Amino acid sequence: MIAAATTIAHEPDMRIALLLICVLFVGLTCGSDALADSAIVRDLPPGLHVPDAAKPVPGFDVDRATQAWLDLLSPEQRASSDAYFEGGYWLRLWKLLYGVGAMALLLLSGWSVRMRNIAERVTRTRWLNVMVYAALFLVANFILQLPLSLYADYWREHQYGLSNLSLGGWLREALIALAATFVLGTVAIAIFYTAIRRAGARWWAWAIGLVFAFSLFLDLVAPVFIAPLFNDYKPLSEGPVRDAVYSLARANEVPTAHIAWFDASKQTKRISANVSGLLGVARLSLNDNLLNRTSLPEIKAVLGHEIGHYVLNHAFMLAVYSTLVVGIALFVVHLLFDRALTRWGAKLGLRDRADPAALPLMLAIYLVISFFMMPLDNTIVRTVEAEADAFGLNAAREPEGFAMASMRLSTYRKLHPGPLEEFVFYDHPSGYERVRRSMVWRKENPSSSSAPAAPGDGQAR
Ligand SMILES: [Zn+2]
Repeated sequence: MIAAATTIAHEPDMRIALLLICVLFVGLTCGSDALADSAIVRDLPPGLHVPDAAKPVPGFDVDRATQAWLDLLSPEQRASSDAYFEGGYWLRLWKLLYGVGAMALLLLSGWSVRMRNIAERVTRTRWLNVMVYAALFLVANFILQLPLSLYADYWREHQYGLSNLSLGGWLREALIALAATFVLGTVAIAIFYTAIRRAGARWWAWAIGLVFAFSLFLDLVAPVFIAPLFNDYKPLSEGPVRDAVYSLARANEVPTAHIAWFDASKQTKRISANVSGLLGVARLSLNDNLLNRTSLPEIKAVLGHEIGHYVLNHAFMLAVYSTLVVGIALFVVHLLFDRALTRWGAKLGLRDRADPAALPLMLAIYLVISFFMMPLDNTIVRTVEAEADAFGLNAAREPEGFAMASMRLSTYRKLHPGPLEEFVFYDHPSGYERVRRSMVWRKENPSSSSAPAAPGDGQAR
């Protein structure tokens, strides 16, 4: 379709591209997920519910205990969770096709060239006109992506009972995210094109260095400047939860100066916590769903996992690993991008690789390559997550808490995938794996921690 284009602003081409996007969107809204039954109570009840077969008694059987935990989800809850998560597999494909379609539209309609021409009229300084182009591109991309984002991040989240946001609230957050992307993206794209102009055919090697520097920069600024744009962060109030959290942090040499909770319930029903920080500064944040809906053993188990990320220096390690993955992708982009420019550049009005109007072409190639690198990317993150799990079990010594929290997460992550499915799509160990590893830990540590020894005393808070 691109090779057939004779002029950059050809109306039929634009209509074809528009049609492509419409067909994709209609296909995706009508044809994807099996609708979740809204009558199902998705979440598990509050409190720690240790099944009888999972209690630490003499002759403890790991497989039987694991199965007893898995049975906490009803068949209906499990079907809903599977449908949501498996729909996510397809969504990745739709996002790729939609993204490539949007980039094709910008190129075939001539909008990308027009945006570059406008930028050149505004200023003759090269890095400044790249910034102007980048600003126009980011807004155009936001508008083009909006239908898919509305479906994937708003409508579908409500369909499965996971979102607490109104449409107005969702749009407000999308605009805040656009503003943050606008500030960081225009600068990043201008630096990127300066590297392309200076380094010539070796631009990809410079770009790898920039990706690494930018990911470390984001690790530093995101918790301080970006996260507070969306949520309020407050100190934990006095009480057993705060005591347990601080004790766990102190025992593992994590600084306690920036431990906070935040109001995630305004956006989502998911439970989570996160840790960020480099250069000896740790920021540990617990979301209010975790604090309000789960038991103390679960909070400690989740926190043990997060502390594992900090102690094992995962933020830095992931910046290194993800730069390697992006680096491979950028090298392949370099090979294909020059060929694509030779073949279609003149017809599309693109000058050379340093022409910002060719950014959509470069991004379309990058999207395709990174799609096929998804299993590698996921396996790296999943491996790091499994390390944090192991650390957390030893640090918190709450295997039942971790099993319970894993079952809560499994109300929206498929509980027991096949090995290939896990390899390709999972960026965390599956619920099954996490529960089983918790039960292995329990078998090897039969008398440790606060596991209830008899039925009926499980409502620890
Ligand atoms: Zn983690």
